[in-house]
Amino acid sequence: MVEETLFSKIVNKEIPADILYQDDEVTAFRDINPQAPTHVLIIPNRIIPTVNDVSNADAAVLGRLFIVARRLAEEEGIAEDGYRLLVNCGRHGNQEVFHLHMHLLGGRPLGPMLSRPR
Ligand code: 5GP
Repeated sequence: MVEETLFSKIVNKEIPADILYQDDEVTAFRDINPQAPTHVLIIPNRIIPTVNDVSNADAAVLGRLFIVARRLAEEEGIAEDGYRLLVNCGRHGNQEVFHLHMHLLGGRPLGPMLSRPR
């Protein structure tokens, strides 16, 4: 049986998403619950559950996430003002979907990187 995640269903067009970019390795689509005027998720098409699972074999695709992020930042008109790239990992990182993804956030000042510990 082929392993699936919510995001691999988006890659395979089994569930709808606002896809901004797709190639053989990478897919980028708008977050369903945006935290900023631009909030895009950039993912490897192949499932890597978390950053804890990355290996040397993933180096090329992980590099592609940055290339696609840079291109989309330009297309979204946020490159000059700047933006944030974010990857959550595991429980303390508040990761919700276990298919590694890079958040591209921008379009307003984003404030400090972390909220105060509660
Ligand atoms: P995480 O917390 O795992 O880093 O981020 C998961 C992100 O996926 C969240 O920002 C959430 O809004 C987004 N998300 C969850 N379900 C869906 C969905 O079905 N479609 C899209 N486009 N985004 C989703």
